Amino acid sequence: MMNKAISFDDLKGKVAVITGGAGVIGSSLAESLSGLGVITVILDINEVEAVKVASAVEAKTGTRSFGVMANVLDKQSLQEAYGLILSRVGDIDILINGAGGNHPDATAKLEFASSGQEGDEKDTFYGLDPEAFRKVFDLNFLGTMLPVMVLTAGMKKRGRGVVLNISSMNAFRPLTRIPAYSAAKASINNFTQWLAVHLAKAGIRVNAIAPGFFLTYQNRFLLTDKETGELTERGKKVMASTPMGRFGNPEELGGTVAYLLSDISAFVTGVVIPVDGGFNAYSGV
Ligand code: NAD
Repeated sequence: MMNKAISFDDLKGKVAVITGGAGVIGSSLAESLSGLGVITVILDINEVEAVKVASAVEAKTGTRSFGVMANVLDKQSLQEAYGLILSRVGDIDILINGAGGNHPDATAKLEFASSGQEGDEKDTFYGLDPEAFRKVFDLNFLGTMLPVMVLTAGMKKRGRGVVLNISSMNAFRPLTRIPAYSAAKASINNFTQWLAVHLAKAGIRVNAIAPGFFLTYQNRFLLTDKETGELTERGKKVMASTPMGRFGNPEELGGTVAYLLSDISAFVTGVVIPVDGGFNAYSGV
């Protein structure tokens, strides 16, 4: 018997919702998938940007794309968006949970706390704002969980669909200074596995990518100097810890994502794939 030819053709005409789709990574994924014939729904809390990204994607690839406003932390808002999506392009085949990120008030100034050091409390873990912790946890975890709960209803009914979550390097080993974001992304790895098991018999696969370091709006302030654009000490460390010796480009996520969404990976569920230039594999020695 001949093996079936390998291609991404099964993705053509599928409907993919990308939460946080107006962001750096979401919009880049939208463009990559749109290039493969996927109908993309740019779901974002920022409606103006969502509509802008959708028309840019559609203009570039000729494949249908549209922007819809929704808050991933609000079930009602997601339900309304779902209704709109159903009426505009039909039911959803693919959900990408791209909304997420860190908060500056949950970021410690210092990497290490020292004993006997008075007055540094505000710059260490002790000075962080618990409310900012909650925001980071909510955005990354609830903001992944709720869209799955609402937007995969049709997938479950049909017994077919794919969910893709976005994790991070800090989920495997926490990065200094960002305890909330690290723990929140660790919860994404755990939830990806849990959900993959829970939905395996319902025909829905659940996987994640863990991007390494991409210079984007969210981490630019940690990795490069605002004025000079030079690498900060942290940026230099990241570079030294990335065997490929460079930051990633968002478009380099597209291939791994297409693989995880397509039937090519029909027997793959519950995995988190690093796309990181070797960062996660490197012990530094
Ligand atoms: P981004 O800030 O460029 O985009 C995030 C998007 O989410 C924005 O368009 C924003 O409006 C939207 N959003 C925020 N809150 C929302 C809400 N409540 N409801 C709906 N939409 C909301 O971020 P990015 O750099 O593209 O990151 C995307 C994902 O990748 C995040 O989960 C992030 O944690 C993860 N990630 C990023 C990097 C990186 O280097 N940038 C690395 C690893 C993981």
